[in-house]
Amino acid sequence: MKKFVGFIGWRGMVGSVLIQRLIEENNFGKINPIFFSTSQVGEKSPIIKGISRSYLKNAYDIQDLKKMHIILTCQGAEYTNIVYQKLRSTGWKGYWLDSSSYLRMNSNSVIVLDPINIDLIHSAIRSGVKTFVGGNCTVSLMLMALGGLFSRNLIEWINFSTYQAASGAGANYIMELLKQMGFLYNEVSIPLNQSSNSVLNIEKKISQLSTSDQFPKKYFLAPLAGNVLPWIDVITESGQTKEERKVSEEANKILNSKVFIPIDGVCVRVGAFRCHSQSFLIKLTEDISCVDIINIIQNHNSWIKIIPNNFKDTINSLTPFSVTGTLDIAVGRIRKLNFGSKYLSIFTVGDQLLWGAAEPIRRMLMILLK
Ligand code: NAP
Repeated sequence: MKKFVGFIGWRGMVGSVLIQRLIEENNFGKINPIFFSTSQVGEKSPIIKGISRSYLKNAYDIQDLKKMHIILTCQGAEYTNIVYQKLRSTGWKGYWLDSSSYLRMNSNSVIVLDPINIDLIHSAIRSGVKTFVGGNCTVSLMLMALGGLFSRNLIEWINFSTYQAASGAGANYIMELLKQMGFLYNEVSIPLNQSSNSVLNIEKKISQLSTSDQFPKKYFLAPLAGNVLPWIDVITESGQTKEERKVSEEANKILNSKVFIPIDGVCVRVGAFRCHSQSFLIKLTEDISCVDIINIIQNHNSWIKIIPNNFKDTINSLTPFSVTGTLDIAVGRIRKLNFGSKYLSIFTVGDQLLWGAAEPIRRMLMILLK
């Protein structure tokens, strides 16, 4: 009998990319999908070829959730916080797959990224682990890009700077970024199209608009269009933001590291739409050549796309727009830094809704069904 899989959060950013990937890979044929909602109970479930439509069930109804063999939620940490323990306390022994951070560092959960930790996943399933969680987007994208170096213990430490897309914050944020762009353009479109106007006057107008009450910033609380915001999530006791702290914590948990690898840096929101970029300064444990480094990175997984270190390839292929909507992990700007032969610089770009969020969970669902 096909397993009942309950989907929660399927219409959000991560959830809708997950549904799209399940359709693309013909995965719906392997399951009995049941759709839940926190806000649209009783409305029709999504249209998916080969699946008969039904009505959305209540995502807070523990009795209905209990009937599922597997629950897959992309709803967010608040939902998991409300429902997970209640459901487990009824004795429910099903698999819980989650994209939110709420259970990631729980000792009974495994953070899934199978090209990196398939052995850990298999041994967890054998030992009865029932909770599998997708990693933070920057963490999963970093590990996919640098997996070869990690697997050969070539990394002593990493300093990173991220350039994170608006979609990382959710559906409402990506729409707000577009509204901000439109607001700025609309306000200067007339002088912009008059050749007699000085660019400095237009730039001055834009700067003034950034503090206007009319500027759409309900979600970001600040302009992102024309700006960068070097702060993501809340502060922690160390002065890092929570997003920054997750990188070393989650990466070491996914790698199942025997020796903790220090990874620290700054997470920055930029006006890209759905791809995160990251710049890494890596201290290597050995002095190996850039040619060997490229081979090691390239051979680790089939999604790596090495971008030659030149202007044309970089501006065409190592950018959010060139990677968006693909499973490619673009890796470029690979060079040794002037600090010494063990200091390496790398720039990577990945779609944070695919490898950064939906894809590891989709693949985990398929691993469980096998
Ligand atoms: P999201 O887009 O805000 O969607 C979450 C839920 O919000 C939806 O399932 C939907 O629930 C409701 N919703 C409210 N307004 C909506 C709208 N205009 N369009 C669509 N849905 C709307 O959140 P998300 O970015 O997918 O993130 C979900 C979880 O994954 C979070 O815990 C997040 O931290 C985690 N995560 C996200 C990313 C990422 O790249 N965004 C990466 C890794 C992990 P109802 O249908 O029940 O109303």
